Amino acid sequence: MNTKVLKKRRKTRSVMVGGVGIGGNNPIRVQTMTNTDTLDIKKNVTQINACAKAGAELVRIAVPTLKHVDAFAEIKKQVKVPLIADVHFLPEVAFAVLKIADKLRINPGNFDKKQLAKLARQSKIPIRIGVNHGSIKGDMVKAAIEYAKIFRENNFNDLVISVKSSDPLLMIATNRRLAKKLDEEGMNYPIHLGVTEAGNASEGRAKSIIGIGTLLLDGIGDTIRVSLTEDPANEIPVCYDILQATGRRITRAEFVSCPSCGRTLFDIEKVTNEIKKKLGHLAHLKGVKIAIMGCIVNGLGEMGDADFGYVGAGSGKVNLYKKGKIVKRNVSEKDAVKELLKVVVDVRV
Ligand code: SF4
Repeated sequence: MNTKVLKKRRKTRSVMVGGVGIGGNNPIRVQTMTNTDTLDIKKNVTQINACAKAGAELVRIAVPTLKHVDAFAEIKKQVKVPLIADVHFLPEVAFAVLKIADKLRINPGNFDKKQLAKLARQSKIPIRIGVNHGSIKGDMVKAAIEYAKIFRENNFNDLVISVKSSDPLLMIATNRRLAKKLDEEGMNYPIHLGVTEAGNASEGRAKSIIGIGTLLLDGIGDTIRVSLTEDPANEIPVCYDILQATGRRITRAEFVSCPSCGRTLFDIEKVTNEIKKKLGHLAHLKGVKIAIMGCIVNGLGEMGDADFGYVGAGSGKVNLYKKGKIVKRNVSEKDAVKELLKVVVDVRV
């Protein structure tokens, strides 16, 4: 990943959520939200732990009524990952979770000015002002800035701001305006990015990749959520793939592989999966580029940029590369993955 061509990330303050920092020099954080009934403590704890295991650094839970506040408190006791309480309609619920949650997300359109000012004065935890296209009539940016001003006037600055839409193009344009306006107002609050109600499967992923990825490339965004109509644990690998592909947060080795064609003389799909499975999780290979190519047509060019390479060299034969140079020639296809692993794992770049 050529991170030298990346635009500078927008400068923001660091906001601490539990032990996890959002904004500033912190990595861009990955978060999700449970989709189980908040009153079902066991199901929530299981889902949160599965999401944390997949790499979620923050998890949000819906807290619609006061009855749900007690369930939230119980869930909080049973998990390690910082929890965000998501409150929409009832201000009294927001006040009740202030002493329990690591962060509060409100939809400020449902609160009056007096209540927002009171929240600012009472809250010791960060608050996300989450404005959604579907829940507001006017301009999202104007609304978000107005609400943020109420907090700032009350000396509360632990804010994270989001403006979401199910339309990725609108979401991109709105977030660009938001970042500009925040900077003009001297508000260095971090921005949370997401395409809300993106859908499921490849369609939902494509919308999130376009929306979140484009803004990350602009340097906008400090925490991301990919909203899928699926198990929330499925959102996490997409988040990390977006961060890796945009070069904003490199967490693993970088794999390059050709789509294969009539010139490919080995099962490149199987080999690629095998190599990724064996090396994709190794922390010391973070940022190391490994290229798997069917033949030398594009193979040679890729080898110039790659730290390690696996290139088809003829029927049943493979050449292995390190830093653009062949280190093992005409390795038999059946031994080639094993030999590549030896080269990659034994020799640190
Ligand atoms: S690198 Fe070779 S095998 Fe792979 S797609 Fe290109 S021409 Fe085909």
